[in-house]
Amino acid sequence: MGDGTSADPRTGTPPADARTGTPGRDAPVDVRPVPDGRVPTAPAVGGPPSGVTHHRQPGDGWVECACGRRHWGLHGAAGLLLTRRDAHGRPLAVVLQHRAPWSDQGGTWALPGGARTPHESAEDAALREAAEEAGIDPTVVRVRGTSVLTHPDWSYTTVLADELAPVAPAATDAESVEVRWVPVEDVDRLPLLPAFADAWPDLRRRLEELTGAADGP
Ligand SMILES: [Zn+2]
Repeated sequence: MGDGTSADPRTGTPPADARTGTPGRDAPVDVRPVPDGRVPTAPAVGGPPSGVTHHRQPGDGWVECACGRRHWGLHGAAGLLLTRRDAHGRPLAVVLQHRAPWSDQGGTWALPGGARTPHESAEDAALREAAEEAGIDPTVVRVRGTSVLTHPDWSYTTVLADELAPVAPAATDAESVEVRWVPVEDVDRLPLLPAFADAWPDLRRRLEELTGAADGP
């Protein structure tokens, strides 16, 4: 996931409205986890395939933000923008996740990522989520910088990183239909998660500014 607003739910839980009677806001499909943190067994929107792994973490949950929307991640969220560069350091491709259709704003493409745990840095969260969701080995990734989207009650940190050795990402949990390298010039041809689509032009500029060898100091 790589969005900045209606972030990625961990589970295909039933709509909160069905349980609480709370009127929905702008999210037609609310997959808010149940209050006690259990993962319900009967997802409302088809749900992930049975038997799949859910990586439930402290910090999973929705934040009702003063901006008027709700966002995933009680302590904010983070995503990994992993970049492959050519011999001159120019960005060639980035890893994107095709998000599962049952997830919030499912079917769109965004960055692997998710909610931060209570004392977890954005970098650590992004690397952990990328390992869980996309099988990306954090030892062959070098963090180059971050880009933070700040809301009144929430934040989303994009962690910009370079590939140090060939990474073959794959969909490794139920949140992804597919995870793959996408050429930089093709990113905005995909149906992107709206918040990632908004962020992409600036992120692409950042990637292009961060030229040079990935193994520098
Ligand atoms: Zn907000």
